[in-house]
Amino acid sequence: MSPRPAQLLTLYFLLCAAPALHAQVTLPASVTPASMPAAVTPEQGTTGLLQTVPRLVWRRPDEVEGAFARIKALDGDLRFQAAEHDRARLDRLVCRGLVDFRALPAEKTAEFAFRDHVRGRSWMRPAVALTLIRALAELRKEIPTATMTIGDATQPGCGQVRHSVLVRWLEDTAPGVGPATAMANKAAPLLGVLAVVAWQAARDLPEYAAYFTSPDTPVRVETQLVGQDVTDDGRLILRTATRRFRRLGDLGVPVPESETKAMWRDVKAIARDGELVRVRKIRVSARGEQASFRWLQHWIDPDDGRQLVLISRQRQAKRKPRVGGVEEVRIGLWQERKPDSFPKEVRWYATRDKGGRKPHWEAFMALREAGHESHNSGRDVDVSYVTMGNTRHFAVDLKVLDVAATWRWFQILERVGRDTGVPLDKLMLEAKVARQFRLRLPPEALQTSLWRNHVGIVPGHDAHHHVRTKTPSAEADAKALEVLMGMRGR
Ligand SMILES: [Zn+2]
Repeated sequence: MSPRPAQLLTLYFLLCAAPALHAQVTLPASVTPASMPAAVTPEQGTTGLLQTVPRLVWRRPDEVEGAFARIKALDGDLRFQAAEHDRARLDRLVCRGLVDFRALPAEKTAEFAFRDHVRGRSWMRPAVALTLIRALAELRKEIPTATMTIGDATQPGCGQVRHSVLVRWLEDTAPGVGPATAMANKAAPLLGVLAVVAWQAARDLPEYAAYFTSPDTPVRVETQLVGQDVTDDGRLILRTATRRFRRLGDLGVPVPESETKAMWRDVKAIARDGELVRVRKIRVSARGEQASFRWLQHWIDPDDGRQLVLISRQRQAKRKPRVGGVEEVRIGLWQERKPDSFPKEVRWYATRDKGGRKPHWEAFMALREAGHESHNSGRDVDVSYVTMGNTRHFAVDLKVLDVAATWRWFQILERVGRDTGVPLDKLMLEAKVARQFRLRLPPEALQTSLWRNHVGIVPGHDAHHHVRTKTPSAEADAKALEVLMGMRGR
């Protein structure tokens, strides 16, 4: 027997242990903290702190999808939406029964490549995974050389896929031993949450080389601990969310005053024209120390499509923030359909000389990772088009797009999906790609239900198509899982 990869252990855990954990989570609140020291002892330096990280809550994927849909529908009142979002604590929700496509047995997935090995967004419903695998096997009967590349599916444990955020799943190998405990031991309070702040250099991130002008550019890596649980045998699980920010400008060179002035003009404009949706007073001093607080205030200007967060020593006036006492400024875009996402976030950190009132600013820009409106419950997968010679998957290149072969792939997906109990819902294509299909496919193809009812034009799909299936039944997932894990063979 070949050794099982570590990821598969996680997979088995999610599939097998989740129901038991769910029962554990419903214990009275007074009981749950007692199980924590089993995994992390006070000697390891996290006395009490880990208890501030919320317990994960296991739900069916469609329930998690519903929870997001409910928050998204509150877009008529942004303040209420923000309050409901915070109250629901969606970061705690974890889907039961998803599989990590990347960790499936290689003999079943060999013809699939992955767009990247950074994001880790390769989780999906078992019936969806099996449909992709079988459909490609069918396509290869006609085109033996065809391969496909998978981009984003859903992130580990599912949930809202936000811009610039990488969600990870850390699981110890034994009680008190492993990546979760190691992360917990490094964590410290950061504005009311537990987090680890680390620094990297541009050279440590070769996948992002295009972002950087110098290999020395510092990158601030901020990892928040957003959820925790403990397995039946006492191993700690952590769900984390990482954001990376590259320093803007050259090292040792202060940000030009013209830019800090422009930043402050933006701050004033967003606060003046936008709506103040969050005001939070956060205690930043440890227990036993003299109490010290920061104010976190969040404005959204829906007309301008921008948002602002200020972290200050004093509470700022709703319409007229003042620079004195501001320690951190966050400015980014805002998109109605992706609440709580922060595209193109730029952070400014102030330092003040002793007695000096005028701050020096350092600016950091979030490393881009796509956000998604859907992709939150394991039935959405971004897949490359079929291309000539399998070249340039996930590149925007209509010259290599193989329209006939991609159309076959769509037809096969539709048929195989029906067989595995996961009917096709939508295939999303960019308009200019759909135009190629209209030009090059025979007229009959454009009269099919597949083209008329399932193909949709959605911007952002020029380098890949988005496969969205209907919600599979629990039986379809269970059956697919048996096949995927080789319990019954094909
Ligand atoms: Zn997509």
